[in-house]
Amino acid sequence: MIDLKKLKEQLTPEDIIELVTFLGADRFIQRNNYIIFPTICHNIDSEEASLKLYYYENSQLFKCYTGCPEESFDIYALFEKRFKLLKKNYDYYKDIVLVIAKNKKVVEFNNQIFNDKYESDFSQYNSPNIVLNIPTISKRILKAFTFFPTAEWLNDGISEEAMKEYNILYSIDRNSIIIPHYNEKNELIGIRGRNLNDEDIAYGKYTPVQIEGKIYSHPLTYNLYGLNNVKENIERYRMAIIAEGELSP
Ligand SMILES: [Zn+2]
Repeated sequence: MIDLKKLKEQLTPEDIIELVTFLGADRFIQRNNYIIFPTICHNIDSEEASLKLYYYENSQLFKCYTGCPEESFDIYALFEKRFKLLKKNYDYYKDIVLVIAKNKKVVEFNNQIFNDKYESDFSQYNSPNIVLNIPTISKRILKAFTFFPTAEWLNDGISEEAMKEYNILYSIDRNSIIIPHYNEKNELIGIRGRNLNDEDIAYGKYTPVQIEGKIYSHPLTYNLYGLNNVKENIERYRMAIIAEGELSP
């Protein structure tokens, strides 16, 4: 059995470039630890797509900064998106990923293959079980912020105790509520801000926090916010209520 997660981990940035080029990207910009592609995730024609699809090497995830609703997605999901756009067979793409990952080289592809009849052998493999290793951040960075329960959240019914329990902080400089995100092991993995100034809200109510030029974002889809605090209760009561948004727990 082949584990798609392990295969994905073996994909080098060069493999990713080959794969995304194969999927239709006509250009790319390679930077130190990320690669920028045209947004072929939601544009059929790469030439018409803007360079807003970022691939981050440490998380091995793509983020589309224009049309796609997901916070981030992996190479398999990009295949799936292309398949849906081009109305092609998904298993076919998955098998191509497998071929590339196994052989570390792209076999000869051309547009003809989209029309060939193809029988998938994907069914013999495990489906992707995504467990990400999201890099951790030193908690010292939070010392830049202070504890201050804002009227906005108190009025929303978030008590001071709850804010303390979730280490909700406040940024005096930018007048925003600071929401540290921890993983299950209580390690800091991302910092988000709830903007309070109207001019900041124009860019989004909730945004990743930027400190000295570094953006402390993380793939939200792959971490359950608050699990570090409620894990024991979930084990005790064998019940979990999952809701959307940081305000929910
Ligand atoms: Zn997109």
